Amino acid sequence: MRVFYDSAYTSSAHAFDTTRKATWIADSLAREPIAGVTLASHPPLTRDQVHMVHDPSYVDAVERGLPRTLAESQGFPWDARLWPMSLATNGGLVAAARAALEDGVSGTLASGFHHACAGTGRGCCTFNGLVIAARVLFAQGVKRVLVLDLDAHFGGGTASLIAGDPRCRQFDVSVCDFDAFEQDAQSTFDYVIDSRAYLPTIDRALARIDAEGAAFDLCLYNAGVDPYMNCPTGGRDGITAPILAERDRMVFQWAAQRGLPVAFTPAGGYVGPLLERDALVALHRSTLEAAARHGVRR
Ligand SMILES: [Zn+2]
Repeated sequence: MRVFYDSAYTSSAHAFDTTRKATWIADSLAREPIAGVTLASHPPLTRDQVHMVHDPSYVDAVERGLPRTLAESQGFPWDARLWPMSLATNGGLVAAARAALEDGVSGTLASGFHHACAGTGRGCCTFNGLVIAARVLFAQGVKRVLVLDLDAHFGGGTASLIAGDPRCRQFDVSVCDFDAFEQDAQSTFDYVIDSRAYLPTIDRALARIDAEGAAFDLCLYNAGVDPYMNCPTGGRDGITAPILAERDRMVFQWAAQRGLPVAFTPAGGYVGPLLERDALVALHRSTLEAAARHGVRR
């Protein structure tokens, strides 16, 4: 299974989980490989590909740093490395999406996509790589893309971007109300408060995808581990590491049984007083293990 990574993912000056953890995970894979997982390189996005989703004035702001409020609308300080970092991370998900169509399952170590809107960043997300990947593939003949967003937070940026586009369908199961959105034909959600309902809710969401009967060519899986109970941003009491591992097994096995290619991104997951870096990396490694073990193989 190809998992895409580039050192530019972590090149911006501002250091926090989203701009650093891809390298933490890559370093951990170098020390302790996961059977079946190979890190792969890829080209960055082009400006034209970013323009498929984002307003030119916002794209310019991210590249040049001006106006500064817009360039920093995702919530962290701008520096000149933000532009190449964003082209690299978003290109990673495009590469994973293409690889998933060939191999059945693929991923990237890049994060930080689902809150970004057309004209602004939000919630540590600069560009929306999920929707960029979908639109790049639509231009190459893909017909329908499923976005499965199991990050702790809502994918409100994605919902705003795919509204009215019948080629995209987002199912979102969230445990924290940040970036909640109005449900419409393209985006629906479940909001889980009781951790005992977490896996049954995801099971029902997968059954609803089946029941709608749409034929998807690809699933983009936003596999945030921030629902984990000790995650300082989004964590929900009672959601343990084994529950997240079971979640990922359910998703990859469900897709494999249907022959549905999956491209995944680690998404949320943050170091805090009760979650050390190694433990966070272990949670993301668990997603890689589930994908390598249960994902579609062609
Ligand atoms: Zn999140």
